[in-house]
Amino acid sequence: MSDSTEEQGTPVLEARNVSRYFDGRDQAGRRVKIRAVQDATLRLYPRRIMALVGESGSGKTTLARLLAMFYPTSEGDILLNGRVMKPSRKDKRDYYSDVQLIFQDPFSSLNSLKPIRHILGRVLTIHRKGTKKEAATKTVDLLERVNLIPGGRFVDRYPGELSGGQRQRVAIARALAVEPKVLLADEPTSMLDASIRLDVLNLLSELRTEHDVAILYITHDIASARYVADDVQVMYAGELVEGGPTESVIGTPKHPYTQLLIKSTADPSRFKQAGQRTMSGDADTSEPPDPGHLPSGCRFNPRCPKAMDQCRTEAPPVVQLTRDHWARCWLYDGHVPEQRTTSPSPRRTQG
Ligand code: SF4
Repeated sequence: MSDSTEEQGTPVLEARNVSRYFDGRDQAGRRVKIRAVQDATLRLYPRRIMALVGESGSGKTTLARLLAMFYPTSEGDILLNGRVMKPSRKDKRDYYSDVQLIFQDPFSSLNSLKPIRHILGRVLTIHRKGTKKEAATKTVDLLERVNLIPGGRFVDRYPGELSGGQRQRVAIARALAVEPKVLLADEPTSMLDASIRLDVLNLLSELRTEHDVAILYITHDIASARYVADDVQVMYAGELVEGGPTESVIGTPKHPYTQLLIKSTADPSRFKQAGQRTMSGDADTSEPPDPGHLPSGCRFNPRCPKAMDQCRTEAPPVVQLTRDHWARCWLYDGHVPEQRTTSPSPRRTQG
């Protein structure tokens, strides 16, 4: 897959043809292989935000956890600054000084028994970002970088004394304490009030430009992805199905799943309606497929209003639609992208 940023040099963080399988059991108790993520490739670049969007259960959190080295890949590699990461203690230590995570729940991600001064000071000390004395000044500075101003007013407070939005800002300040090159933000606004969400999104946007950070923003919310992200990757049933610049993917979506995802933002019943049009037998097509029993051919075919016979038997190719916009779909097979002179031919894979 080609992307709009490949001309910017080496990605700071890359998932290269990454898959993750789990052993599980289906509803009848039979052993099955759960394909949580399959053949996913994405690249994060400094000063850019990439949104990873999809319904819950699409595999985006699993992919984020693979990127975060929470567990090893079944296939494929995670590369940091072009170097393949191994699950060794040394590689993990190097990794976490460059990559930090922001979790969905600001209420449980901070130690409620310690004041902010301790929470941030501990990270600064562990990562050797200055002496204890310097940590006090840096703590105030970090708080002000996330717009908790004046920082001195917050250092002696406990997480329980802060609002949800303020806690998420402290969680972001804690991530920034190690001066990371990458932030992996897993639904960082989903537990916040609507009025605060925009503030946190604006903060992510500022961090990207002011601190040269690459950000992966994981969300099920297309509108927020459009607001904050430079690039978008769409995930369905463990596969990336469409990707490219945000305005191209969300403005002119090509994959039928992306189209339904966007329409469902305005009308959540669209998924069910689309499924009913193509429903065969008693299959419940209003829900994503069971990852232990994925449909043959295109994984989206039972729900797809444009499914063709071929879609039910053969996995679709990845087709380069324009220089930087691609989709995994039979509808575009044979499409010839606009010519370019500097990048390699698009990769075509079977899912
Ligand atoms: Fe729909 Fe076929 Fe494209 Fe899958 S490959 S999204 S079933 S048209």
